[in-house]
Amino acid sequence: MSATTSIDTLTKETQEEKESLNLFYSTQTVIQKALAKLGYNNEMFELLKEPIRLLTVRIPVRMDDGSVKIFTGYRSQHNDSVGPTKGGVRFHPEVNEEEVKALSIWMSLKCGITNLPYGGGKGGIMCDPKQMSFRELERLSRGYVRAISQVVGPTKDIPAPDVYTNSQIMAWMMDEYSRLREFDSPGFITGKPLVLGGSQGRETATARGVTICIDEAVKKKGIELKGARVVIQGFGNAGSYLAKFLHDAGAKIVGVSDVYGGIHDPNGLDIDYLLDRRDSFGTFSKLFDNTISNQELLELDCDILVPAAISNQITAKNAHNIKASIVVEAANGPTTLEATHILTDRGILLVPDILASAGGVTVSYFEWVQNNQGYYWSEQEVEEKLCKVMVNSFDNIYQTAQSHKVDMRLAAYMVGIKKVAEASQFRGWV
Ligand code: NAD
Repeated sequence: MSATTSIDTLTKETQEEKESLNLFYSTQTVIQKALAKLGYNNEMFELLKEPIRLLTVRIPVRMDDGSVKIFTGYRSQHNDSVGPTKGGVRFHPEVNEEEVKALSIWMSLKCGITNLPYGGGKGGIMCDPKQMSFRELERLSRGYVRAISQVVGPTKDIPAPDVYTNSQIMAWMMDEYSRLREFDSPGFITGKPLVLGGSQGRETATARGVTICIDEAVKKKGIELKGARVVIQGFGNAGSYLAKFLHDAGAKIVGVSDVYGGIHDPNGLDIDYLLDRRDSFGTFSKLFDNTISNQELLELDCDILVPAAISNQITAKNAHNIKASIVVEAANGPTTLEATHILTDRGILLVPDILASAGGVTVSYFEWVQNNQGYYWSEQEVEEKLCKVMVNSFDNIYQTAQSHKVDMRLAAYMVGIKKVAEASQFRGWV
């Protein structure tokens, strides 16, 4: 890409490439700042700015029409000084090396924040799962596990679901790994169906974690959750469960959206009706006439705004128009670094993504613990344990932000990277 290329003239592919690069470099920028605040030297940054291991694989898959298609996949392991690496596998046409690397670093940060005994990992396969049959997806999932089997395992690197992968795909992957190793290995992967060693509460874990963060944030801001006005962008797994939990807690959901647009009612929306009518892709807005755009939705008058869809939604362009006093990032990277500064300067409490969406990896850790001990917890036990982890993590980051006079994102990076840096130092790596 030439330095003079304007963003408007970029093709879709190069824009996506640029976003991934931005994600990677902005992650590195904040890590560098966080390590400097913690008093680490540049050698530590040199170690932690990139994953220690990145495996690229080519996976041949026999398609239903008899042809063979070759898919490219990745597994990135950021740092294994704390323990095995952990992180999801996404199936998406835009998966690329930079994105997988950045997301593995984020997993290290999330595990550091929640004090889990893991480093960060991430995987992905460049494919379009919507265009593939059930059996083609099974062959691809099994082929991926065969290709990465040397670098993964219950005490090495533990995959999980991510974008467009689910419990069925985890089940195929677990089965393939168990066949290769010739013993049952439920602890190889998390996000499995309950009958194969999945954990209670895994499906709703991300939304539960976001809800707990909102509970803590309203206390800090002196707002009552009951009656608080909430806007949620995105009505998929994260957004829809979140809407339900907040609605049940007495909050008023005044705006929600999907990829096509949003709906707004200052008196509160009928969330149960929307849950009933939305499709499996989290879309519902086509059922309504009076829709608003996603940009209008973000600027609605409300107390709490939750971006729960895609990245780069709150930017320098609209950050001045956000009316909420609390922004909780359920999505990955919905707010740019520039916008983070604007919101913080305006006194808006921003709960960053690596904290707000850490409920999923926390319950994944619980699943792995249950697999290792062969003893399973009730949903209530899982939720109580999740609550403790999320409240402690929130408090730790909030206190760090106050005592170091930094924004919540930098504070989250400081807390998240500290454990990895300390472990690397104790091992004598730096
Ligand atoms: P999903 O695919 O289930 O739902 C996504 C929702 O966002 C849908 O309602 C979709 O219509 C909407 N959407 C898509 N493109 C949009 C756009 N351009 N503008 C507005 N809305 C759009 O996804 P999910 O699992 O709910 O994840 C949502 C976000 O949360 C992602 O950023 C994901 O990385 C993050 N996240 C999810 C989990 C999880 O466990 N589900 C965990 C951590 C982070």
